[in-house]
Amino acid sequence: MSRRGTLFVVSAPSGTGKDTVVRELLARHPELGFSVSATTRKPRPGEQEGVDYYFVSPERFSEMIEKNEFLEYAEYTSASYGTPAAPVDEALDSGRDMILVIEMTGARWVQVKRPDAVLIFLVPPSFEELERRLRGRGTETEEQIEARMKKARTEVAQMGGYDYIVINDELSDAVADVEAIVRAERLKANKSLETVKGGLK
Ligand code: ADP
Ligand code: 5GP
Repeated sequence: MSRRGTLFVVSAPSGTGKDTVVRELLARHPELGFSVSATTRKPRPGEQEGVDYYFVSPERFSEMIEKNEFLEYAEYTSASYGTPAAPVDEALDSGRDMILVIEMTGARWVQVKRPDAVLIFLVPPSFEELERRLRGRGTETEEQIEARMKKARTEVAQMGGYDYIVINDELSDAVADVEAIVRAERLKANKSLETVKGGLK
């Protein structure tokens, strides 16, 4: 029997560096699958349909909810975001580990629906540094930065239900920490037993 893939969920306050960390992780681990979400927000410059997101209309998004096509979905800053369930399940069934990069409400849904999912929360080394990163990225207005900083404090206060907490101070350390989590989860007895039984002489 082949091993089923593991579902990894990464969340972090906006500006912490989750996209940066996950991009680096995927570059080092092409065997990991990345779940492409659907969203009703407009594409930002450089974002590609089907690579960064599936950009859909609010009507199409509602239809996907009605047809039960989402593993989870949530509202975030006046747009909707959701994880299409079918590609994730197909990948896991084929033995591929998958990563979802989603906000905390959706992550909690995944935890309820898939209790074996592994939840990783990334935190910035300090709120000052978070604000520096948000400003440095240059993609938010002053008002949005203030709203995201406020949201960050609430999010950090709620990270208790996550399985792992990783501090994104030095990027390479944070990537190595997430890599270590993936490796440790792959070595867990319930995941590796069948392989060992089948492979040992
Ligand atoms: P998120 O996806 O969590 O919103 P990003 O990945 O867009 O965050 O990162 C926010 C900003 O912080 C980007 O400009 C990115 O280059 C920078 N950044 C990410 N990780 C680090 C780090 N470890 N040290 C310094 N800057 C970082
Ligand atoms: P952004 O608009 O900056 O790309 O994403 C905003 C927030 O939505 C981020 O925290 C991102 O991780 C989250 N997000 C992206 N896709 C999904 C999804 O499918 N479901 C949920 N719940 N959140 C998502």
